[in-house]
This record gives sequence, C-alpha cells and structure tokens, in this order.
Amino acid sequence: MKTMSNLLEVDAVSKKFGKFIALNNVSITVPKGSIFGLLGPNGAGKTTLIRVINQITMPDQGRVMLDSEPLMQHHIKDIGYLPEERGLYKSMKVGEQALYLAQLKGMQKAEAKRRLKIWFERLEIGDWWNKKIQELSKGMAQKIQFVVTVLHEPKLLIFDEPFSGFDPINASLIKDEILRLRDEGATVIFSTHRMESVEELCDHIALIHKSNKILDGNLIDIKRKYKTNTFEIGIDSINNTNLEKELSNKFQISPADFKTVGNELKINVKLPQNESANDLLSYLTTKGQVSHFVELIPSANDIFIQTVKNN
Ligand code: ADP
Ligand code: MG
Repeated sequence: MKTMSNLLEVDAVSKKFGKFIALNNVSITVPKGSIFGLLGPNGAGKTTLIRVINQITMPDQGRVMLDSEPLMQHHIKDIGYLPEERGLYKSMKVGEQALYLAQLKGMQKAEAKRRLKIWFERLEIGDWWNKKIQELSKGMAQKIQFVVTVLHEPKLLIFDEPFSGFDPINASLIKDEILRLRDEGATVIFSTHRMESVEELCDHIALIHKSNKILDGNLIDIKRKYKTNTFEIGIDSINNTNLEKELSNKFQISPADFKTVGNELKINVKLPQNESANDLLSYLTTKGQVSHFVELIPSANDIFIQTVKNN
C-alpha cells in the first residue's frame, strides 16, 4: 500500500501580539502532493500562520517540521512564498526585476532567463518583458509575482490570498497553473476567505476562526461527515399536492429549487440515517414519474458558514 507522507507539520503553534492571541495552539499537517486550503474569515490568523511557516514570525510556542526536519534557515529555498502584500520596485522593468528576484533565490541568470521566457509565454505576457513595473495594473503585477514565486521549482508553494487581485479569466488561468504545479510534484498551501476556489482546488482544508483551528482534514471526508442524507427530488404524479402531503407525513421535507421545463413537484427529502437512496427511489417510483434525484452534498461554503456559526 502506498502511504502518503506529510511535507509540513505545524504542531501546536501559538503566537501573541502584545495581549492579543493571533494563533492559539494551531496544528496542521499537509500531505505531500496535496493542495491545502487555509480558510477563515478576515482576521482569523491565516497570514500569521503563513508567516510562521516562512520564518518571518517566530511562534511563542509549538514547532514546524518540513520534510520531518525542524524548520531551519536553509529551508527557505525549499519554499516559494507569494505574500499578501506584494511589493515590486516601481522603476524597474518587468524582465530585469523578475531576473533579479530569481537570482536572489539562487538561480543562475541564464537558467532564470530561460525559465522566465517559458512562463511569460505560458501566461500570455510575453510582450511585458520591457514594460515598467509602474505601468502594470494590480492583477498584472500579481502575475509577475506568481511567476517569480514558482520559478525555482520549490517543493512547497505558499500563496496568501492568490486570487484577490485577479479578474475571473486570470483567476482561472492561475488555478490551472496551480493544478499543473501540483501534478508536477509540488505541494501547495493557499489561504482564502472565498470559497469558490476551494471546491476546484483543495483536497485538504483547515478552517481557522478567531485564532483557533476549528475544522480540518480531507475535504471529501469532511463533506461525508457533514452531509445529511438529503435528496433533491423532482417527481410528477396525478396529484402533486396530495403527493407532497403524503411525503411530508413520512419524511422531513423542504422546498427544493432547481430548474426544469415541467410542472413536477420539487422537494428535498431528508432520510433517517438508516434509510438509503434506493429505499426512497423505489418508494417514489410507485408514486409517479421521477425526473430528478440528486443527493445534496454540502459545499465548502455551507460547511464554512455552519462551522463558524457554531463556534
Ligand atoms: P488573516 O490573514 O486570517 O486575515 P492575520 O493573520 O493577518 O489574519 O491577522 C490575525 C490577527 O492578528 C488580526 O487581528 C491582526 O490584526 C493581528 N495581527 C497580525 N499581525 C500583527 C502584528 N504584527 N501586530 C499586531 N497584530 C497583528
Ligand atoms: Mg491574510
């Protein structure tokens, strides 16, 4: 059996700023080759945790292990970090700036240039090489920063709110690049307070709320735990009003909302835990024509809102 090892382990990390506790005993484990979403409302502590992992902020307690070694100075070259505050030198040209930053990370100039050309073509910014940084919009500058973050092919990539400055087209482009980097062997951590990107990218998540981790794990496992055995149903019978009454006597029901072209009864049915979809479906087929039958799986957004509310 193939066992998945962890690239990063954050173990019981706490951090105070004055009297304010920014991180309270937070632990996360990031499996090798995963895309790990660090989720939480504004001010939850995501950036603080990311800064701890990047050795910019020293934790008061706890420790961080990278590839089974306590985090040390030399690990910085193994991590590509796109910070939330992204500063570039305004007066430099795009190409010379990117080359300069790549060399700071230990790359040879010729090799850096070769890889930059490939990345610029890939992100459709080939003609930006001689533009001044100050001519770039926020999203354009962010594309350059993204390239510089991943260029030296570090094994761990950490993006702090990577989609915040992008239009939908560029956000989707960056999403695809993140998936490709993962497929090529990188492990990715990114923070976000927006949930759409989570569904498309993450296999693991941790939810931080008010400095505490309140939920973490494999996203599919979490969804399995949060699902409620509820099915969204479309059914047409001789008398849909009577059918609705009958269903409401047997099950916990609520109105469903999905698009169809017919006049069927649309309803959500919550089954007791010991009853299966097959039981419900065979019952329904005796009552009418079933046109729609889907299990309702909570979205990352549903889980986020529900968990934050309960804490
Ligand atoms: P997030 O990234 O989840 O939005 P942050 O980690 O940036 O949250 O911040 C968490 C909390 O810690 C916030 O209330 C913030 O004001 C506070 N904080 C972060 N850095 C500092 C600092 N250097 N000094 C004082 N307070 C800080
Ligand atoms: Mg932040």
